[in-house]
Amino acid sequence: MTEKKDIKAMELSALCDFVAELGEKPFRARQLYEWMHKKLVPSVDAMTNLPKAFREEIKTRAEYVSLRTVRRLESGIDGTRKYLFGLADNNVIESVFMRYRHGNSVCVSSQVGCRMGCKFCASTLDGLVRNLNASEMLEQVYRIQADVGERISNVVVMGSGEPLDNFDALVRFIRLLSCEEGLLISQRNITVSTCGLVPEIERLAEERLSVTLALSLHAADDETRRILMPIANRYPLSEVLPACRQYFEKTGRRLTFEYSLVAGVNDKDEDAGRLAGLIGDMHGHVNLIPVNPIKERNYRQSDRRRVEAFKEALMRRGINATVRREMGRDIGGACGQLRKGYLEKGERAF
Ligand code: SAH
Repeated sequence: MTEKKDIKAMELSALCDFVAELGEKPFRARQLYEWMHKKLVPSVDAMTNLPKAFREEIKTRAEYVSLRTVRRLESGIDGTRKYLFGLADNNVIESVFMRYRHGNSVCVSSQVGCRMGCKFCASTLDGLVRNLNASEMLEQVYRIQADVGERISNVVVMGSGEPLDNFDALVRFIRLLSCEEGLLISQRNITVSTCGLVPEIERLAEERLSVTLALSLHAADDETRRILMPIANRYPLSEVLPACRQYFEKTGRRLTFEYSLVAGVNDKDEDAGRLAGLIGDMHGHVNLIPVNPIKERNYRQSDRRRVEAFKEALMRRGINATVRREMGRDIGGACGQLRKGYLEKGERAF
């Protein structure tokens, strides 16, 4: 038996071929595509204008990827929602919905777990389980838009996983998400965050997408960076930063630098000075994130005064910096901690 095709991960042209193979007319491909990517139905049976026999054929020949909502938490403070989704193989992933003045944003996961090993991050503690398919990444946005009932205008690939370690699925996801026949989310409103995989940053620049690249910097010198991020052993700043600069030059998209402030490790004024020296001419924006402590490690958050002082030190040197507002404080479980808690306690605890 041939493997079932993941139709939700197919671009329209491939779907047309698939539909032709089943002996159906091309307009059926368009209908099918709309049901999946515009009407966001959770099952093939819900595609009511397709003939029953065709729906049955699809179910036999194709896999219809759809996520199951295992748990949903909603903040009473700012409307942030955190979702724990179940995959067909019973793995779980988490995604977040955030409401901003500029629109609704979803934070998606790109892998189950992660193999990058950043020391402060909960997603990587148990290593990588597997990559997500483009359809599983899309479904996070689709299920959330359907649940909230409002248009999602921004997507950040900042959930669990390293998106550039799952390159092909990521690019497919971006193309489908921004496609005219689908949700048509502007590529300018999609941000891909990476720990700094140099060859893949270069590859992404070649894809000619107009997504924003966010680099997780977290330190302004290699020595400190290596303490926090093992990937810094492989790619020093002298390689990562030129790759980012090249991304900016090829795409014209301004860069974002993420910098999680860890008390006593990377939060001194001296670090801010070094950071300004490093990225001063790169037209980037620095996103400061007071680190979310995880119980498995001893890292502490810099206090509010230190965070402000760090920001001021950057601003004085002409670097645009903002402190990331903490969303959904009352529902906790930031950055992969919801899934981790779920795995430790088991489903019944929820
Ligand atoms: N693999 C991607 C996406 C990771 S999550 C990357 O490395 O960029 C998005 C951001 O949150 C990254 O900058 C990541 O380093 C940061 N992050 C992860 N856990 C964190 C924590 N506990 N506190 C603060 N920032 C964290």
